[in-house]
Amino acid sequence: MNDTLLQPEEHVLSTLERDGSRRWLKPRLSRGQWLTRRRIVAYLLIFIFTAIPFVKFGGKPLLLLDIPARQFIFVGYIFLPNDMLLLAILLVSALLAIFLATALFGRVWCGWACPQTVYMEFLYRPIERLFDGTLGRGGAAKTKRPAWIVALKYPVYLVASFYLANTFLAYFVGVDRLWQWVHQSPWQHPVPFLIVAFVTIAMMVDFCYFREQVCILMCPYGRFQSVLLDPSSLIVSYDQQRGEPRGKVLKAPAGEALPIVGTAPPRGDCVDCGLCVVTCPTGIDIRNGLQMECINCTQCIDACNAVMDKLSRAPNLIRYSNQRRDQGQPLSLLRPRPVIYGTLLTLLAVVFVFLLATKLPFDAVIVRESGAPFTLADSEGRIRNLAQLIVTNRSERPLSLQVEAVDNPEVITRVRERDLRLEPQEKCTFHLEIVAPRAMFRDGNLDLVLRIALDERTSREIPFRMIGPRL
Ligand code: SF4
Ligand code: SF4
Repeated sequence: MNDTLLQPEEHVLSTLERDGSRRWLKPRLSRGQWLTRRRIVAYLLIFIFTAIPFVKFGGKPLLLLDIPARQFIFVGYIFLPNDMLLLAILLVSALLAIFLATALFGRVWCGWACPQTVYMEFLYRPIERLFDGTLGRGGAAKTKRPAWIVALKYPVYLVASFYLANTFLAYFVGVDRLWQWVHQSPWQHPVPFLIVAFVTIAMMVDFCYFREQVCILMCPYGRFQSVLLDPSSLIVSYDQQRGEPRGKVLKAPAGEALPIVGTAPPRGDCVDCGLCVVTCPTGIDIRNGLQMECINCTQCIDACNAVMDKLSRAPNLIRYSNQRRDQGQPLSLLRPRPVIYGTLLTLLAVVFVFLLATKLPFDAVIVRESGAPFTLADSEGRIRNLAQLIVTNRSERPLSLQVEAVDNPEVITRVRERDLRLEPQEKCTFHLEIVAPRAMFRDGNLDLVLRIALDERTSREIPFRMIGPRL
C-alpha cells in the first residue's frame, strides 16, 4: 500500500503529528508586560476562588449552592426552588455578559479568566517546569533530568488537585461542614468523599493529559467563537502589512553593510524566528491569521516584542487589534451585537431588581388534596374542600400568617393542625379546609381568591377553585 495516500497535505491540528499521534507541547515562557498582567489577574482569581467559600455576608456564605437543602445563597440572598425565574434571569444574564464581553474584547475570558487556562498556565505548568528543570523559561529541558525527578510532579499535582477538589465541594456544602468531614472517616460521609475523589481524578486527567485539547476540541465556548465575534472584536493578531514578506535577518559579509540594495530581497519586520509559535500553549502560528485555537493568551505578543526590542524595531508586530483595524477601516463601538447584548442585559437587570425588591418574606402555594373533591361539612349542607398550603419562610424571623377568602366572609378557611407559624427559613405543608355555603356554587364550581397575609400590607393572593355538587 502506498503510505503517502494516508499522509495529510498539511497539519490539520496544531497538536497532531502527520502520522496522527499527539504532538505534546512544551511552550516556552515569554516574559513581558502582558505576562506580568496576566500573572496578577490569574493569582488574584485563584485567591478569590479559594477564598469565596470562607467569606460570609450578613451571617450567610457569600456563595453557596446547597443542593441537599435545595437553596442557592448569593450575596446574602437565599434563592429557593420557586425562584426559578430569578435564577433563570441570572443565568441568562451571565451568558449575555459573556457574549457582550466576547463581542467587545474577543476571547478575553479564555486567555485571562477561564479556570482551565488560569490553573494550567499559572499552577500546573510552573510545577511541571520546576521538576523538568525549565522553571522560568519553559520549552524542552536542555539537560534531561532523571525520570524519577520529573515524575515527582505527579504527587504535587495530586495535592493541588485534591485541594482544589475540596474547595470545589465547599461551594456546595460550605466550609464549616467540609471542615467537620475532613476530620472524620470517609465512611461517615461516602458521597462527598466520592465527589472529591472524582473531581481530583478529573483534574489530574485534565491537567496531566488533556491540557490544551480541552480548549481546542472540547470547550463549546471555543467552538462558538466564529459566531460570537464580529470584525471589530478585539483579537490577538499579527500585523501582516508590517511583518511580510518575512525573512531571516541577513548577516552582512565581513566588511559590508546591509541591506545591499538591489541584491537583498525586501524584508518585512518578521524575522521568522518562530518564537511566537514555540511559546504558544495551543501550538498555532498566529501569522496564519485568526484561528479557533487561539485563546488570546498574549504569549506571542510578549515573545515578538522581545525580538523586536533586540532588533531595535518598533514593538507590537503581534498585538491586540481587530479585523477592521487590520483592514484599515475605522472602529465602531455602536455595532449591532454590543448594542443588542447591552440593551438585553440592562432590561434583565431592571426586571431582576424589580422582582427581588417586590419579593415577599414568604412564598405560598396551594394544591388540591387528592381523594374526594368535596364533602358535606355539616347538616346545613355546606361544602368542604381540602387543600395543601405549602409555605416557605424566606426571612430570618418567625412568621405568623393568616388565611382568608377575599371578599367572601361566608367562606370559612381553617388550618387543620396548628397555627400558620413558621420558624426562620422553615418550609411547611399545612392542611387547609375551605368551607362555603352550597348556594354560592355555580355549575358545581366556586372561584375564590385566598389571601395569605402576614399583616395588612404584606400578603399574597392565590386563586382557588372550589368544587361542589352540580345543582
Ligand atoms: S516572534 Fe515575531 S519576528 Fe518572530 S516569527 Fe513570530 S512574528 Fe516573526
Ligand atoms: S496565538 Fe498567541 S495569543 Fe493565541 S494562543 Fe497562541 S500564543 Fe496565545
